Amino acid sequence: MFLAGKSFILSQCVGSRAIFTTAIYQRMSFSQQPIFTALEELKDIAITPDQPDEYKEAVKIYNPSYSNEHPAFVAVPNNVSDIQRCMRVALACEVPAVAIKSGGHSFAGYSTTDQNGFVVSMKNLASVKLKDGAVTVGAGANWGDVYKALENTNYVAVGGCVPAVGIGGYILGGGYSMLSRAYGGLACDMAEEFTMVTADGDQVVKVSKDKNKDLFWALKGGGGGNFGVLVDVTLKLSPRPKQFIWTNIRYDGAESTELVLNELGSQLLQLPKEMNLDFAIHGYFGKKTLTLDAVYSDHHAGKVEEVIKNLHPGQRSTKTYESYLKFVREYSQRHGFVHYEVEPIYVKGAMIQSIPPEMAKYFSDLEIPAECLLEFVHMGGDIQQYPSTSTAFPYRTAQYSFYTYGRFHNSASRSEVYEFATSTYHDIKKFGCTLGSYVNYMDRHLINWPQELYGVNYPRLCEIKKKWNPLGKGPLHFEQEIGSTWEPE
Ligand SMILES: Cc1cc2nc3c(=O)[nH]c(=O)nc-3n(C[C@H](O)[C@H](O)[C@H](O)COP(=O)(O)OP(=O)(O)OC[C@H]3O[C@@H](n4cnc5c(N)ncnc54)[C@H](O)[C@@H]3O)c2cc1C
Repeated sequence: MFLAGKSFILSQCVGSRAIFTTAIYQRMSFSQQPIFTALEELKDIAITPDQPDEYKEAVKIYNPSYSNEHPAFVAVPNNVSDIQRCMRVALACEVPAVAIKSGGHSFAGYSTTDQNGFVVSMKNLASVKLKDGAVTVGAGANWGDVYKALENTNYVAVGGCVPAVGIGGYILGGGYSMLSRAYGGLACDMAEEFTMVTADGDQVVKVSKDKNKDLFWALKGGGGGNFGVLVDVTLKLSPRPKQFIWTNIRYDGAESTELVLNELGSQLLQLPKEMNLDFAIHGYFGKKTLTLDAVYSDHHAGKVEEVIKNLHPGQRSTKTYESYLKFVREYSQRHGFVHYEVEPIYVKGAMIQSIPPEMAKYFSDLEIPAECLLEFVHMGGDIQQYPSTSTAFPYRTAQYSFYTYGRFHNSASRSEVYEFATSTYHDIKKFGCTLGSYVNYMDRHLINWPQELYGVNYPRLCEIKKKWNPLGKGPLHFEQEIGSTWEPE
């Protein structure tokens, strides 16, 4: 049983050397002792390497590139006071690193840590409660849980298009959705209240436009792992349309790629906000293919279908869904999104404001390795109704979020993927129409990352971070946390 009070825990940490007899713990050196004591304090909610199946599941993350980082144990809180206990114990025992895991989908693997630290898994804090046109969601839930709970209601939530993505990390980074353009903006713009445990575990704070206003601003796009542990968020819902319509158009060949990109580029700002038009380019089987995915609701069909009709003809298919859950499941399956990747991946991207003709030509000429895919996620619409300093998410004027997504299975393909992603990133910067990178696509190879991720909002974020989770104090820290001077080699 946990005995509350920092001084008690401290005396335990200093005065006792918990002894663990398993091979893995015996191998750990004396310098790793704080973690032993922390485990002793948290053993009732801990999963250790002694439980190999449970441990393997508990440490799983989306990107296997970082799954060699194995925490000493995973603590699985069942309630808010368990989370407080985790953070207090980590602080008192001077555990060097605690990583919070909600859905585990961080591309940069920041929801795990090494054997000197432990992971706090939010999986048991995953309730979804509907009330008065809003939903309160535990950080450990995923978007599939939310859409399932909304299935037979008159509401829809602005959230991720892949059901397995976690609420915790997603919402703290801003979160764009296929519904963002027409239904009020980013997912964080729908947040009415957050509940957060402070990084030292001492307080449970409510955060809203009236309470802890600085945090209310920072939690909307400041990124996971920075300010404290998010427990839950209350999101405003929107009235649900009867049907969602998905039109897919496919074009083969570099010439059509250039033609369609020019067509889109010339009318980017006039596209109806009621249409979400994502697109992707790949070079599988040595043949360039561009696919457009237009997603809209029956309310908006007239306006959107007029635009689709006038696009360069390609191979078209249209499907209609009454259930948003069914739609996102099929959409993410068709796009090859899985629960967790089997092979390591690397993702690198930038926000773009326009598609000038030189860029259209560049993408149509670009040779894309078989392992890589170029993705363009539609932004604009209601996302840009707020100024760039209205929340921590800075790139309100972006029209697309662009990224390369590359999979690799050996060191040769790894170099190819890195080189391709990096050179593409630098090349598109030269067109003068890019902003920074998206915090939810955190990239451990991003040079000048504070400016890239946070732009104009960085100084204010540093001030707020100093107040709630100062650098060098406490256990909630990682390389690319706000205020850190870490830079990739
Ligand atoms: C397949 C896939 C599809 C995606 N689709 C979209 C999309 O449509 N739109 C979009 O905007 N983004 C999208 N993303 C990016 C996604 O938003 C981020 O990867 C996000 O961080 C995932 O949240 P998570 O809870 O699953 O991640 P985690 O890996 O659990 O967490 C990410 C970061 O937040 C921290 N964190 C997690 N939980 C908490 C908490 N409770 N309190 C404090 N810090 C916490 C972690 O420590 C880590 O640093 C997608 C990612 C993937 C892999």
